[in-house]
Order: sequence, then C-alpha cells, then structure tokens
Amino acid sequence: MSNNDVDPLSRIRRLCHQLCSSSCVNQKRHGLHVVFLKQRPHWSVLKKDEQFKQIDLGDKVPFDIALPLPARDPDKPNSEEGVKLFWETFKCERCGRCCFTPGAGLYLEKEDFEKIAEHLGSKKKLKSLCRYDKDLKGWVLRQPCPFYDTEKKECLIYEIRPLTCTKYPLHPPLREMPYNLAVDAFCPGARDLAKETLGWWIICENNWAKILAKLTSD
Ligand code: SF4
Ligand code: SF4
Repeated sequence: MSNNDVDPLSRIRRLCHQLCSSSCVNQKRHGLHVVFLKQRPHWSVLKKDEQFKQIDLGDKVPFDIALPLPARDPDKPNSEEGVKLFWETFKCERCGRCCFTPGAGLYLEKEDFEKIAEHLGSKKKLKSLCRYDKDLKGWVLRQPCPFYDTEKKECLIYEIRPLTCTKYPLHPPLREMPYNLAVDAFCPGARDLAKETLGWWIICENNWAKILAKLTSD
C-alpha cells in the first residue's frame, strides 16, 4: 500500500508526527494554546464538563486516554519531546493506587528480576513474591505489590523499581491514536493531566490545518 492510499486524516497525523512534534511540544510548553483559544474556543474546552465526566469514569472502569502529545517513534529522533513534556507536567498524587491494587501482576524484565533478587539477597525470596507466567515466559510480581509500604505510602525499592513502574501511567498509544501518548485513566494524576491539557488539542488541529493546506497546494 502506498502512502497515498492511507486515509487523509491518518496521513496528516503521521506527517504531523514527522514534521512538527518538537515545535508542537514547544508551542504547548510556552502556552501558545492560550493565544489560540482566545481567537477560537476549542470543542474540547467548550464541552469541558462532558469531557471531565468521561475522564472521571476511568476511576471505576479501566481505559486509556490519548494525550495531545506526540508518542515515541523509532523513525524520528525528536520523538522523545512529547515524553519529556509529559514528565515535566505530570504530578503524581502519591495515592498508591498503581502499587496497591489487586491485579494480574507486574511483569519483571530479566534485568528487573536480577536487580531485585540481588537486593533481597536471594532469587528464592523474590520467586516467593511472584508467579511464573508461562505465556510471558517470565516472573510476574504479585499484586498488590509486596514492595509498597502502606503506612509511609512509598515504594521500598524505588531506586531499583521495575521498568514498568518507571513508565507508569504512560501506556502504549491507542490503536485509533497511534501517534499520541496514552495514559491509564485509573491514575488520578493522569486524569488531572488529561483535564488540564484538553486545550492543547487546539495546537494539534492548527498544525493539521497547516499540513492539510500544504498537501492540497502541492
Ligand atoms: S496511581 Fe498515579 S497518582 Fe497514584 S501513585 Fe500511582 S502514578 Fe501516582
Ligand atoms: S515496585 Fe514499587 S513502584 Fe512498582 S508497583 Fe511495587 S511499590 Fe509500586
């Protein structure tokens, strides 16, 4: 399939990711959306209450929310820009939900397993806190996580916490928004960020409009 066969919106989103991810992130970092919003209110802001209600559903029903930030892209050296702005903006509320909620378990990369086993002084000790997952061919830490201190509300192995924990609440991009970062709506910090950044979508749409105008004039 040639590039031209892809539907126009997907093509524009792809081009946006390739051409403007770093400038778009800078525009958002410096609040250009506020200027645009004064010129033309964005639907996401006009429908704020509806959007907030939808986002708040993530408190009970697990789902992922796409953010107006570019995701990592192996073909694009600047693709870390969106991830950087995410970590500059995200505020963990230290609620402990991601660590202390019953669940299927937390997959340990080989490196994670080695580091944590060394810290505990034995592989046997770590295995007693995990289950072996045949499909994943690896050890999965039981949840609620045995390394969460419920009184102090902190991780007892923070410096060597598993890779998955270092990325949370970032999740893989949604299928329908493959070039945007996505977060777990179960995390209250992520929900607040999604609310705060609703107006940022106006910058994406302005950039898409410029790309579309250029494509049609070529
Ligand atoms: S669920 Fe989110 S806000 Fe709560 S501790 Fe985890 S990362 Fe922080
Ligand atoms: S290892 Fe630490 S950060 Fe990861 S789930 Fe357990 S307590 Fe939370």
